[in-house]
Amino acid sequence: MTSREIREAFLEFFKSKSHHIVPSAPVVVKNDPTLMFTNAGMNQFKDLFLGEAAVKYSRIADTQRCLRVSGKHNDLEEVGIDTYHHTLFEMLGNWSFGDYFKKEAITWAWELLTEVYKLDKDRLYVTIFEGDDSEGLVRDQEAYGFWKEFIAEDRILLGNKKDNFWEMGDMGPCGPCSEIHYDMRTDAERAQQKGQELVNADHPQVIEVWNLVFMQFNRLKNGSLEPLPAKHVDTGMGFERLVRAIQGKTSNYDTDVFQPLISYISQKSGIQYGVAEQTDIAMRVLSDHIRAVAFAIADGQLPSNNKAGYVIRRILRRAVRYAYTFLNFKQPFFHELVPLLADQFKGVFDELYQQRDFVEKVVMEEEVSFLRTLTTGIQRFENYVEGHQFIDGDFAFELFDTYGFPIDLTELLAREKGVTVDMEAFTKALQVQKERSRAATTIDTGDWVTVNDSDEVDFVGYDVLQAQTEILKYRKV
Ligand code: ATP
Ligand code: MG
Ligand code: MG
Ligand code: MG
Repeated sequence: MTSREIREAFLEFFKSKSHHIVPSAPVVVKNDPTLMFTNAGMNQFKDLFLGEAAVKYSRIADTQRCLRVSGKHNDLEEVGIDTYHHTLFEMLGNWSFGDYFKKEAITWAWELLTEVYKLDKDRLYVTIFEGDDSEGLVRDQEAYGFWKEFIAEDRILLGNKKDNFWEMGDMGPCGPCSEIHYDMRTDAERAQQKGQELVNADHPQVIEVWNLVFMQFNRLKNGSLEPLPAKHVDTGMGFERLVRAIQGKTSNYDTDVFQPLISYISQKSGIQYGVAEQTDIAMRVLSDHIRAVAFAIADGQLPSNNKAGYVIRRILRRAVRYAYTFLNFKQPFFHELVPLLADQFKGVFDELYQQRDFVEKVVMEEEVSFLRTLTTGIQRFENYVEGHQFIDGDFAFELFDTYGFPIDLTELLAREKGVTVDMEAFTKALQVQKERSRAATTIDTGDWVTVNDSDEVDFVGYDVLQAQTEILKYRKV
């Protein structure tokens, strides 16, 4: 099956189970102080779960473009290094709002995976919530019972609260979840490791594909749990991982989702994919990052110096640096991937296709501007690390301020050289600049202090600072 057919089959399947199919929400979230980018399929239904909006359809399914590059879910550092975490990915989902519950959710998940997609039953594992004494939460025997109908009991693994209990926040709907994992190890390896329990993160070839969340409690302000009057189902399946499993590949990048992009990059750079670790990582980073950047722009978030815009700029600069250093692209190249991607998503997410020229232009302008200082910045960096064990704050700040290196790019460069960055000193240097730019916008006129906010340059400087502070904040979570 092609990836297009796989996506269509998902939607068709749930349509046949009376689900209403809705379009993906934009990946850029406006007007929600708690969220910058859509990071899960359920985001657009938050109000329904909280009971703050009326339920029009009690069964819904869709494919949602998601971005996990900030806040609670930040997978950026993994991307390109591993083969199954992306910045932007599609989350296929089906929902029940006070309609069906565990039995149907589990039965249909199994039916879809094994009968429609014909995945090998012997390679599937599932997890259920083991319970938690401190909260008086019992093991999810219900889910266990339904799974037992389909899968051998030694393939039903217990998971703790961290992995198998989902909560929206400190308050609100929550409940146990059940994950489905797919095992792509070779037969030899499987025979050798028989009896060992493996899930996502234990082995790069055993990956989590689908998460079924059963919302059955409401967490109150005082922390206690009460049963929800109406129970809900919220599922999310990683589309690119599913395609990998169905197409029998050992990397998401070997599927037809990423191959057109990888081939193009390989052809243009004259470097083969699958030959050397470093160039492979660079090709994966490029083919991944263009998706995040292009869809963010198409959904209304231009790269900029603050907040969500700066997150996008950072991702773009990260990609450009990989292209420059490892694939020898010294001229703007990244933008050339936009039309390819637009074609790929035609009829799926038309927002990109309709704006492809604009998106390409924005990406190219960003590239041109960053490439102007990149060469000198990298040269400065190379010279500096020759004589230093770690990057001090002032130098990291110089790279940031003069050469436009986001701090995580400097950290990445440092890691590649086996040195560390003095983040505390960097933050301090930022602070100093903040004070300075504040002072610069303040004109002392004797008894009066006038704030001069018409000076745009200073204002931009301040915003950069804000964005940086935020990034530092996010990284700690
Ligand atoms: P993982 O443990 O692999 O990081 P997760 O538990 O954080 O995944 P969920 O929040 O349960 O992921 O999201 C539902 C599904 O979305 C996952 O089962 C997975 O298939 C997919 N998914 C999650 N994060 C990513 C990502 N960064 N790239 C691609 N697919 C992802
Ligand atoms: Mg994760
Ligand atoms: Mg997980
Ligand atoms: Mg999960």
